[in-house]
Parts: sequence; structure tokens; C-alpha cells
Amino acid sequence: MLSYLVKFPNPELHYVEIELSIVTPINQWVEMYMPVWTPGSYMIREFSRHLDKLSVQNKDNQVVVCDKISKNTWRFFSESSNHIVKYRIYANELTVRTNHVNTEHAMLNGAATYLTVKGYEHHLHQVKFQPYKDWKEISCSLPQINGKWEVVAENYDLLLDSPVEIGNQQIIQFHAGGIPHELVLIGDSNGDYSLLVNDLRVIIDEEVKLFAYPHPCEKYIFMLHHTDNVYGGLEHLNCSVNMVPRWDYFPRDKYLRTISLLAHEYFHLWNIKRIRPLELGPFDYSQENYTRQLWAIEGITSYYDDYFVYLAGVASLDEYLNNLATNLSNVVNSPGNTEQSLGESSFDAWIKYYRGHENTHNNQVNYYTKGANVVIALNLLIMHLTAGQKSLDDVMKVLYEMYLERPTQGYSEGELLEVCEEVTGSSLGDFFEKYIFGTEELDYAMYFSFAGLHLQEVIQEEYDLGWVLEERGSSFWVSKVNIGASAANAGLNANDEILALNGYRMTAQWKRSISSYSVGDKLNVLVSRAGVLKSIEMILLPSRKKQYTISPMDNISVLQAKIQNLWLK
Ligand SMILES: [Zn+2]
Repeated sequence: MLSYLVKFPNPELHYVEIELSIVTPINQWVEMYMPVWTPGSYMIREFSRHLDKLSVQNKDNQVVVCDKISKNTWRFFSESSNHIVKYRIYANELTVRTNHVNTEHAMLNGAATYLTVKGYEHHLHQVKFQPYKDWKEISCSLPQINGKWEVVAENYDLLLDSPVEIGNQQIIQFHAGGIPHELVLIGDSNGDYSLLVNDLRVIIDEEVKLFAYPHPCEKYIFMLHHTDNVYGGLEHLNCSVNMVPRWDYFPRDKYLRTISLLAHEYFHLWNIKRIRPLELGPFDYSQENYTRQLWAIEGITSYYDDYFVYLAGVASLDEYLNNLATNLSNVVNSPGNTEQSLGESSFDAWIKYYRGHENTHNNQVNYYTKGANVVIALNLLIMHLTAGQKSLDDVMKVLYEMYLERPTQGYSEGELLEVCEEVTGSSLGDFFEKYIFGTEELDYAMYFSFAGLHLQEVIQEEYDLGWVLEERGSSFWVSKVNIGASAANAGLNANDEILALNGYRMTAQWKRSISSYSVGDKLNVLVSRAGVLKSIEMILLPSRKKQYTISPMDNISVLQAKIQNLWLK
């Protein structure tokens, strides 16, 4: 067994101090390590960069020599059986995947916090917390022992998958999907929590109903941090950590975005925490775990998050269809839309997805947003090919049955296709090759028509400047250019400061000064590039940006009606 004592003597300095007690056979090397990444967030984060002051003592409090042998590994020779390893972690990064400690609270993520001993991963890992002076609450999905400040994980994987929040958070308990839930609220917001809990309850019931099995957890915790401007979530086996801007409960579109995040992380309970690609578990915590299937984890989950918000009656049909249309416009208008496949985007997440820069939108696709759109098309295709009998829901059910039969082994790329084909009774290899592992553009209008929905496309504007301008004080900077559009064609670059248009100094009114311009007109753009002035002639090119709307068709066939009914109930 490994026992950790976790203390916060100086939270104002953002340190957490840890004492790890380990019992090992004598006269052997003991190797300890911590992960370089955390499941759910596919980038090497080098968590050990925040670890220092590591020392090892034997049971007589004598210092034992311990060598650091790699960036995240330490080793000592055991001359006795009992040792205490002490170290501290600097914790001042408020994201769903890192640690944050101050006098108000401690949020600890396992991978960023706990060392383990090589070969001891399957042993019990027990943690005792010593809270800072007036911290009263602890939220953690691990079973508590000896009172609330001590928890135990069956193994290291589970410890890493069980974040903890300690402080004076508000805890709301409720029942849904057949099990108890906790909504843990950290920080103030403008939320109406009874509305939130009521809506969550229905969404949870709908999600549990899809899999038609007993709930996979004994209890579930939503940790919800209210932040200045951080938005995102991270899924775990029995809980999720979520962050939303504190004023994002109003207006309604913000509220829907907030609740859809919670619906998203909850759906991961099945899709990734249980149903998962072969490559993602058991994990290798020491390096990248490559898979071409992140689109299936995040694309499918991103489809279902908004879908369940709609099915639960939280969003109206109009709101749902508008949302689908906006998401589709965003994907299609991104210049990188057909430059990279979803399979490639998944594989390269480790080096690309979390490291966006000024050119990302030009040569990459987002496996969440594009993934969701391709998944919707796949779902509509399955419904069409089965004459309205089956849908992606049936694929998810079969995948879950597969998981229950062999919980330790995920599905391969081939198996996912096989399950889709088995449910559909038709070949889908072509769809996967072209749209998931290839970069061909989908005929979205055709797919939506299967459900009697009309996808209307309008070109948003006559010409497209093709830049994103950032206003900094009274100066204007190009933060991105779209390949193929006016600015990039004229040779404008990200980080150019725009000083004047047609001889007039840039002001907040600059758009009005060119409002009478049309395609083919020329603009003279005076820029400062790294301090050197340049005069650039920019020809206004026609816009390729599309705006979609989705609405029910007037006259639909029996099959279209059947599919519409199956999908939108
Ligand atoms: Zn996700």
C-alpha cells in the first residue's frame, strides 16, 4: 500500500506538500515516477516541472540517497522496508487538468500531484488530507475511510482519475439516473442553481436511458468552477471537473453553452471512460498514447451534448437546429476544413490541437467540431440506410455491450467500423475512408434531407477581408489571415499592425470607411511589420463564407418523417 499525507501549510505560496509512505522489500532499487500527461487532455504537460524538494527518509528518519534519473523518475536503494518520500508541488494554474492552491481552496488533479512506485501501480493508494485552517469541505469521488479527510483508491489509475476539491465550496446533492449526484460549486456566479439541477436531472436521465443499463457509477460528482474567463471540462471515471465564466448563466445562449458542457462531460462516463479506443487504456503515462480515434471520443460526445440538452427539453427544436447550423457554418468556413483528416487531427492532437497558433485554422480541423458534424452525417446515413430503424444510438449500445464483455480492452479502428456496419447492415467503409480518414467535403444538405430537414446555404457577405483584427488600445493588429482570402492574397501577415486604410488613420470607425466598397475594389493598407512601414494594395475578393440555416421541409416522404421522428422524437 502507498499512503500519502497531503498538507497545505502555505497555500498563499501555492504549494502543496506531500509525504508518501511506502513499504518495499529490502535490498532493491525502488523507482518512483509521475505522469507526463493526464488522460482526457492529449498533450505532454511535464507535470514534474512543478515538483521540487524531493527527499527520502528511512524509518529512523535517516536521509536515504535518492537520484533523479529522468525528468519524471527518481530512484533509491532500500536498505530497510519503510520509507517516507517528501516533496512539494507548486500549484498555481487554474485549468481542469492542473493544480490550483491558494488560501481559498485546493484543486488537485492526480497526474499533476502523485508519484507512485514502479511495479506498485495495482496496490491500494491511500490519501489523507490535512486541510488549511478553515477549509471545511472535501469533494472527491474516491471512497472515504476513517472520516472524510481520508480516501482510498484501488490502484494508481483510479487515484489519477479522482481529482479533489478542498475548501468551502457549496455542495448540492440530488438524485438522477438512479444514483446520487453532487454539484460542487466553487466561486460565485449569476446562476440559478435550482434551475440548473432540474435541467441536469432530465439530461442525466436521458443519457442513462440511452444505454439502458444500470448506471455505471455508485455516485457522480460535477465539480463546477466559476472563473473569470476559463471554459472547459475534463472527464473522469466517476466525476468531472468543469470551468465556466462566472456570468455565463445569462443570457440564454450562454446558459445553454454552460449546461451543454456538463452534458458533454457526463456523456464521457460512457464514451471514453468505458467505451474507448484500444490505444487509450491501459495508459502509458510516460509518453504520448497515439490514436486516430479522438474524433470518435470527442466528435461523438460533442454531437450528443447538444442533442441531450435538446432531448431533455432544455433547448427548443429551433434552438437546437440553429445551434447545429451555426456549428456547421463555423466548421465549413474554416480554411483548414478540407486540409487535414479527422484521423490525422486525432493522431497529431499531442503536438497540434492544444498548441494552436495564427495558422492553425488554415491547415487543421478540430476533431470536436468537425467531428460532431461528420458524426451527425453518419447518424443520418445510418438512419437512412436502415429505413428509420436504427441510429448512432444503437452503435453506442453495441459498443457499451462490448465494453461490458471485455472492460479491459478497447475497440480497434476496424471494430468501430464493423459495429457501425453491423448496426446498419451496409458497408460504411467508403464514408470512413472519405470523410474520417480522408479530407473530402460532405454533402451536408443531402444528409439533413434524409430527416426531412432543409439545409439552406447563403453567402454571408459580398467580399471577405479575410483577416481577424485585434484591437489593442487604439491600435489594430492582424491576428490571423485566411488563406485564399483578400488579406492573405495581398500579402498581409499575422502580427502586422494596420496603421491606415486608403490614407486615413485607423480608428474604431474603420469599417464604416469601406462600407460602400464591393468585390474587385482596391484598398491601400499601410502596415507596420516589425517596425518597418509597408504600403500594401489589397484587392477585395468575393466571400466564400457560408451561413447555414436548418429547417423542417414542407412536404416530406414517409421515410423522411420516420427518420425525423426517430432522431428528433
Ligand atoms: Zn470531451
